[in-house]
Amino acid sequence: MSDVTEKKRDEKKRKFFLFRLWDQGRYDDKVDLNTNITNREAWSIIVRAIGLFKHCRWMLSTKIIIALGATTLGALLPFFLKVLPDHVIIQDPISRETSNYPSLMWPFIELFVGLEPIEILIAFSLVIVFLLVTFGTRTGGLAIGLFEGRDAATQYENAVSRGGSAVGGLWGIIEFAIQVRMSQRLANRLRTQIFDHLTRLPMSTLLDQRAGDSIFRTLYDSSRVTDLCYAITVRPVLLVFSALLSLYLLENTYSTSSPEIVVAAWLMFPAVFIITFPASALVRRTNQAKRAAGAAATNTVEESLQNMDAVQSLGGTTVEREKFSLKSAEAFLRERFALAVGVFLYFLMICALAAGSVYVFIVTTSYVIDGTLSVGDFAVFFAIFFTMAGTASELGGFWVTMQEQVAAVRRVYFYLDLPHEDPSEGEQISRIEHGFSFEDVSFAYQNGSDVLHNINLRLDTRGLVALVGPTGSGKTTLVQLLPGFFLPTEGVLRIDGRNIETINRGSLRQHISFIFQEHVLMATSIRENFELVKSDVTTEEIHEALDIAQCTDFISDLEHGIDTELGHAGNTLSVGQQQRLSIARGIVRDTQILILDEPTSALDPISEEKIVQGLLEIAATRLVIVIAHRLSTIRRAEKIIFLDEGVIEEVGTHEELMSSAGPYAQYVELQSVMTAA
Ligand code: ADP
Repeated sequence: MSDVTEKKRDEKKRKFFLFRLWDQGRYDDKVDLNTNITNREAWSIIVRAIGLFKHCRWMLSTKIIIALGATTLGALLPFFLKVLPDHVIIQDPISRETSNYPSLMWPFIELFVGLEPIEILIAFSLVIVFLLVTFGTRTGGLAIGLFEGRDAATQYENAVSRGGSAVGGLWGIIEFAIQVRMSQRLANRLRTQIFDHLTRLPMSTLLDQRAGDSIFRTLYDSSRVTDLCYAITVRPVLLVFSALLSLYLLENTYSTSSPEIVVAAWLMFPAVFIITFPASALVRRTNQAKRAAGAAATNTVEESLQNMDAVQSLGGTTVEREKFSLKSAEAFLRERFALAVGVFLYFLMICALAAGSVYVFIVTTSYVIDGTLSVGDFAVFFAIFFTMAGTASELGGFWVTMQEQVAAVRRVYFYLDLPHEDPSEGEQISRIEHGFSFEDVSFAYQNGSDVLHNINLRLDTRGLVALVGPTGSGKTTLVQLLPGFFLPTEGVLRIDGRNIETINRGSLRQHISFIFQEHVLMATSIRENFELVKSDVTTEEIHEALDIAQCTDFISDLEHGIDTELGHAGNTLSVGQQQRLSIARGIVRDTQILILDEPTSALDPISEEKIVQGLLEIAATRLVIVIAHRLSTIRRAEKIIFLDEGVIEEVGTHEELMSSAGPYAQYVELQSVMTAA
């Protein structure tokens, strides 16, 4: 059997192996699972989520008051309905001795005393019309509009605009509107908070995170936080209130005529808890896995789409499809497993409730037959027991449902808790007066790869500096230390004599423009791309920068000039054009320091020559650092830094370094030989 077939068969076996569902987390090492949430941690997450409600206290209190009103009406409704069979159809006289009504309803019921059945019918109809307009039907209620399936998309969409009411009519509409507004306000607040956090994460963290997972967290999981807030505050209050009210009404009305039924109703609640509580860890775990698997599938799509040109041109389509198919199937499998766990628990609960209901109906029927209870009482029991069964199963499932939400919310907070740059931290600087000095600086990435070793270097605030060296020697890493994208792991980097760690990173970056090797152009117009870096940029400034970066020719050929919309990542332009445009965008920011990482690699010699000339002019008043491979660019720099394996080998002008016949001279010689060949 070939290796491939064996692998496939293995994969198939794994798919049906239940143990794997418990022993999760090996299918995507970049997705944080954090499955081991203790009850203590779950509570601390819940308390934190509740804190969000401080942003909408009024809406929350109004919602609770309206919902309590609706719940009270729901519990009393069966007694209203009892009037019809008992006093209109069977025509039993209304009396405090023989008719069973809770004491708080008597002032209302007494209004019917002495009326003819037909008069009771008319009065009753008026009451019902009023109730219908105000509260609608008990069973109708109101809920969010989307039909919800087991798919994440509709569930999360609904969660973000969660709203509902136990009743319909005007009352329900008001309650519904308040809750939707509240959910959306909280979700928006949280999403914005996560987005803000994303933009301030240090580069080292961003490199470790996958964008797909971040998007999933930002847009989907965050909606669960508002759900959790609601589920942990309003919902239990309403459930407990509804349960206590139903029990009170039963006790108050029937404790003398049929005490067994009241006892059975009390027992319903502990029975449901005994069934559901032990399963909470399983539910939490399966839901955490479900979510992580969803994020893993999103990651695969995002990664493949980003590299689609490489995937297609290097024949990786089949491999990528297989990869996605496996991740997607995994997500569905875990979804089914989570669903199965939920259904099984629900089934156990229903069995317990069904057994209780059968007992209650046998007892009630015998009481109706012997005349202790009326036909209307039978209907009341029927209604109250079904309401209570619903309340009990929801209360029983309360902790279980919360586990699902805690799992989602945990992922959001994990992300929010990643250390990020504090915009208020460090000393603000308004200018860089004297420049940078590296004092024995070494740097290693988080994965342990040692890149820079004992760098000692001074950089003034003027001149064109070329950073030269073989690929992988640490040039990009070195310049990324200047804006504080990374901090030295050893030694000190000083700016105007101050340790970079004590300087406010935001204010430092105000003075540094970094033009990356990969050009990051936005899919907006050329003008908007410039406005992104300088909001008040004038058309003249744009044209000036375009001129220096040799863009004028191709831009004047575009139908809408600088107002032309660029496609995704600027892909309506050639690579060389994109490169020139991002140089122009960097220039327009007009900062003291301009760093260009291989800016001219995709340019023809003539364009390159002109750009270097432009950069030299800029360097008369600013520090321009260029990472370059082409000799034609390098030789015109005022200072060349030659880096090899993370060590600065030489510093000087082209002439000085050539005459010293050191590693730089050998590098140049090798390059000349290669070019000639
Ligand atoms: P250069 O710009 O000279 O080509 P770089 O600074 O990009 O070199 O990379 C120097 C070394 O650091 C390389 O060996 C590279 O593999 C490693 N490196 C670069 N980025 C990372 C990263 N994010 N995590 C770990 N290692 C990295």
